[in-house]
Amino acid sequence: MSENKNFLMDEIDFSLEKTLEENINADKYFGFPLQVILDTENMLHNPKKKKVAYFSMEFGLSPSFYNTFISQGSMDQHNKKRDFAVFSNMRSMDYFHMVRMDTLVDLPIYSGGLGVLAGDTLKSVADLGLPLIGVGILWNKGYFLQRACIYLGQEVEEINWNPLRYPGLAPLRERIEIAIGTERVVLRLWKYYVFSHDRTHVVPLILLDSNLEENGVINRKITDRLYNSKTDWWKSVQRKVLGVGGIKALKALGYDVDLFHLNEGHAALAFVEMAKDLTADKLEALKKQFVYTCHTPVEAGHDRLPVSELKNVLDERELELALKLGTGDYDKQRVNLTLLALNAAHKANAVSERHEQVTKIQFPDYVKKIEGITNGIHHLTWVSEPMAQLFDQYVKEIGPWRSDPTTLKNVLKLTEDNQFKQKLWDAHMVNKHRLVKWLSPWLLKEHVFTIAWARRAASYKRPELILYDLDKLLSIAKSYGCLQVILAGKAHPKDKAGTHSIRNMLGKIDSLVGKQDNIKVLYLEDYDTYVGKMLVSGVDVWLNNPLPPFEASGTSGMKAILNGVPQLSTSDGWIAEAHQNIGIIFGYAPPEGEIGCENDFRIQEDANSLYRALSQMIALYQEAAAGQETMLSSQWLNMMIHCIAEAAFFNTHRMAKDYNAFAWGLKPGK
Ligand SMILES: *Cc1c(COP(=O)(O)O)cnc(C)c1O
Repeated sequence: MSENKNFLMDEIDFSLEKTLEENINADKYFGFPLQVILDTENMLHNPKKKKVAYFSMEFGLSPSFYNTFISQGSMDQHNKKRDFAVFSNMRSMDYFHMVRMDTLVDLPIYSGGLGVLAGDTLKSVADLGLPLIGVGILWNKGYFLQRACIYLGQEVEEINWNPLRYPGLAPLRERIEIAIGTERVVLRLWKYYVFSHDRTHVVPLILLDSNLEENGVINRKITDRLYNSKTDWWKSVQRKVLGVGGIKALKALGYDVDLFHLNEGHAALAFVEMAKDLTADKLEALKKQFVYTCHTPVEAGHDRLPVSELKNVLDERELELALKLGTGDYDKQRVNLTLLALNAAHKANAVSERHEQVTKIQFPDYVKKIEGITNGIHHLTWVSEPMAQLFDQYVKEIGPWRSDPTTLKNVLKLTEDNQFKQKLWDAHMVNKHRLVKWLSPWLLKEHVFTIAWARRAASYKRPELILYDLDKLLSIAKSYGCLQVILAGKAHPKDKAGTHSIRNMLGKIDSLVGKQDNIKVLYLEDYDTYVGKMLVSGVDVWLNNPLPPFEASGTSGMKAILNGVPQLSTSDGWIAEAHQNIGIIFGYAPPEGEIGCENDFRIQEDANSLYRALSQMIALYQEAAAGQETMLSSQWLNMMIHCIAEAAFFNTHRMAKDYNAFAWGLKPGK
């Protein structure tokens, strides 16, 4: 054992930050058991043990509210979540108040659902005790900090956080080098550890970082901003760092990996790195070591890197392989990373049943490789405290839901249990109270129907659909007394349409000034996982209105159902395969086997369907909210119970087991 201990201690570069020695010592790693890391690392360095490396451009780990590492001394102010503003139709409140934050900022190396999925995957893998290593990038400036602005929609600011003082992050001595054109770029390696819920297993996450003085002013910025797409050069080098750098990092740290899982095409150059020194006849065998998850049917989600730019980034052999595997019949000028990943991997998965059908239509030559494995969420991260307590109280009826979320199905046994129903309603009200209190300057009311839309402001998600016809929305609000709407979401800085959507939302909110007795609409700045968790558990209904079939899966609604929050949604992604009594489904549905046009947004028709469905939803809610008697017999309570039961399937424990059966073939344990 002592040998292993030295192994970990030798890996970390303690000279960079004096507080590291206080936080990583003989038995503790930032307050967590060090021995668990040593044992797991020992197992992961055993050449006989089959292991997987999981590559992702982003990881959303939410350490502010799940498995929070403990650090000696005070929090580095750069690592605190920023206070943020609200843009509402109560402009004077917005002017005088911010939402005050006193928590750790969530490790800023993700942008949205893709990253949160990757983070939740690592957590479930840790809980299941599987031998896997994560590979990602340490984004020195994060994604970006968003400020709402009525003239521009959003303003983009840099996140200046301090990785050396971020609890749980450790810089390593080991460095690797990759070539960018004729230059050498040195990458520092970091480790972060994702502990299992019971702290008996861990998944190491290796993060690559080019922020070293010796790299010069440009190259040291390669790992500054996640999805920097200023030019094709930036896009190309970021992908080379992840794919090529990732493989080199695994080797340098002594991990002899059996299978490489590419979470999205961003990491596809990992295959090129592995294939470099192989003869053509060996390539087929190498493909057996690669598996790929495709996350989107949307055009903008597929990287196409121009060959003219790749020439400045890849060497001759790398370019040859990228061209061979990554250019289709139509475009020889660009390397398509989706195609490269599809060709490199012997198996690929789409992220829902609907998405499987769509992917097979989009890539007919790859039908045999493709399977659908529906996304999930890590239930222990996303369950709110009051709901967890309720499930614990009923553990006899439900079962060991923490270790086995499939047991959540058993809440259906409680549909006739009035005491359970009362407690479920009360738990929801505790969550709602917390949300209202958090946003107290805006005087939201606990008994008023509250709905939220929060996610990346991408066009196909139709961010401003609920605000399309304000007269109609206002008349619905009036007919029920009052309505509260909460909105949030960032647009990628280069996404003009998404940014325009935010501007449009803010403009519409502004035009509702003076109407706050009937409707309160709040846009929360700088959406992240912390805000996400407050919303998915605290509102009455979760709104999801992508244009079908372009939402591959969607996961925020899964977080809501786990907390008993019903869905108001178009039929797309995971929703299309869920049981129907978890809310109301509305809007356009494409004919079977057709994809349609992603720019034909069908706003007017679907806004009208949305308003009809919203009225129905409020009527159902009011029945439940009217008093104990009607509440207990209401359809609403029944719906809340069915939501929780569906969470038995839509979680990453089930998903990781599916991945394992589909491609990984890993055995748990040391
Ligand atoms: C869960 C989550 C998402 C994913 O939202 P979708 O429903 O998939 O659009 C995006 N951003 C954050 C911060 C999340 O927590």
